[in-house]
Amino acid sequence: MKIFIDPGHNYSGADTGAAGNGLREQDVSYFVGSYLTKYLSDAGFDVKCSRNKLADNVAATFNRSINYRYMQANEFKADYFISLHCDASADKDAKGAHVCVYSKNSTAERLASAVIKKLIPLGLDGRSEKIVERKNLGVLKHTNMPAILIEMGFITNPENANLMRSPEMIARAIFEGICEFTGIKTEKEYMSVNDTIALMSDRGIISDTEKWYNGTWNDDDFKWLLRKVGTYIADKM
Ligand SMILES: [Zn+2]
Repeated sequence: MKIFIDPGHNYSGADTGAAGNGLREQDVSYFVGSYLTKYLSDAGFDVKCSRNKLADNVAATFNRSINYRYMQANEFKADYFISLHCDASADKDAKGAHVCVYSKNSTAERLASAVIKKLIPLGLDGRSEKIVERKNLGVLKHTNMPAILIEMGFITNPENANLMRSPEMIARAIFEGICEFTGIKTEKEYMSVNDTIALMSDRGIISDTEKWYNGTWNDDDFKWLLRKVGTYIADKM
């Protein structure tokens, strides 16, 4: 499954973002985007990002910057398009996340609702309308796939801005929303404890399986097990 990640705005020049509390929107969007790219790639998604370095400027004018983003996504034939932004207001009490979609009652709206559900518990509540229809945003209008634009809280609000200093947390929440929506698991499936004991017994790493099944092993047993497993891996690999 292909996902296009678009960290909003350019580092400098045209189409730069908002600023507040010592942060710049284009930097926050870049850092969230790079964590999100990593999490999605690790989970097996095919990911392309519009900005691959912090100082990347995708174009020299506003219109070209917007065009570049949706054209790259269309060319990539992404299944979903995710644009990352921060809100700003003259009122520093304005806070909370919301997600923009081109139209409601759409796949994009369902993706938006899976994502916002994960963002709110981070402390990004505050907006009464959490999914907003926007007809005038180029990246939503001209993308050929379901597209969402996430406003990850207000950079002008001190608490929201504080959360933006932990971009990995915001990225993780968006990642979990995408996984829940697409039905793709966030973690590799690990073997059960009992299956692991049975396999280790089968490979001759342990013989006294009852102790391990029953959980009656002690600290020394555990250290011994670590050494046996380590030796087994060193021999086999
Ligand atoms: Zn923005």
